[in-house]
Amino acid sequence: MLISQMFKRKRCVFSIECFPPKQTANFDKMKDTLREMSRLSPDFISVTYGAGGSTGGVSTVEVSRFLKNELNIEPLAHMICMGSDRQKAAALLEELNAAGVRNVLTLRGDRTPSRPESPDFVHASDLAAFVWRNQPEFDIHAACYPEGHPESASQQEDVNNLLYKQQAGASHLISQLFFDNMHFYRFLNLARRAGITLPVSAGVMPIVRRSQIERTVALSSASLPSDFTRMISRYQDDPESLYKAGIDYSVKQLRDLIEGGADGVHLYAMNDAAVAAAVYDGIRDLL
Ligand code: FAD
Repeated sequence: MLISQMFKRKRCVFSIECFPPKQTANFDKMKDTLREMSRLSPDFISVTYGAGGSTGGVSTVEVSRFLKNELNIEPLAHMICMGSDRQKAAALLEELNAAGVRNVLTLRGDRTPSRPESPDFVHASDLAAFVWRNQPEFDIHAACYPEGHPESASQQEDVNNLLYKQQAGASHLISQLFFDNMHFYRFLNLARRAGITLPVSAGVMPIVRRSQIERTVALSSASLPSDFTRMISRYQDDPESLYKAGIDYSVKQLRDLIEGGADGVHLYAMNDAAVAAAVYDGIRDLL
């Protein structure tokens, strides 16, 4: 099913993000995780493409194929400009097509020293336009940034650039994670005023371990509201309480977003089925 159709049928679309294991030997474990996540009946599960710069291991296509064909869950396969070109992108789309996958999240990709720039696609919108032209049966999705993308001079400039994604055929946007819902509401306001009409899923990541804090914040550039920093300083040396407080924080954030009218909520569950289940338990009555 095309994911864009889900937004026409449901008040709030619930999705989870996963990343393929770096070692092929860990694919069976990953399959168990996905089986557990499938019990939460997510509307779709998105599968990253070498996020954080990793390559090798199990491919995005393999994980997407497993979701679609073994679990009957709609996959959203990420694809990136970095390290790709027209030929590689066409081959990837063929592979996805053969696996029955029709939803792609077109991204520029994280810049890492090991990844060459693409000779054909500078921005996600170039890749989206390529998919639209070459495989119009694919449903195209793209990313957005409630606090602005770090490379943009201003949030307004970043929001204006989203119009390129919309014009290139994107049907839905998924947001970068954030910890303060005010950023999301403000962003949505700016986006609608700029002419963005696409449904937007709000990205939320439960922080349940101390080790996640620095890495997550560095990668996402998300700002930390005082409620969040208070929680961290209070529980940073008490793993059990931090776990519980991290789940509660996400549940509170998500309940407010769903009640506040978000088109969708996207859970960055970091391949942790127990975390996904605990958060889902706290919001299932609203979905
Ligand atoms: P772009 O849309 O190209 O935006 C990058 C910058 O260029 C922004 O400042 C933007 O305002 C500007 N811009 C955009 N379009 C234009 C235009 N046409 N003309 C001029 N300026 C423009 N990375 C991975 O490597 N793998 C993944 O699987 C992955 N999944 C992600 C999923 C989500 C939901 C999100 C939010 C991010 C993900 N990322 C992933 C990270 C992402 O690739 C990086 O954030 C990257 O820096 C930007 O990607 P983008 O698609 O938004 O790029």
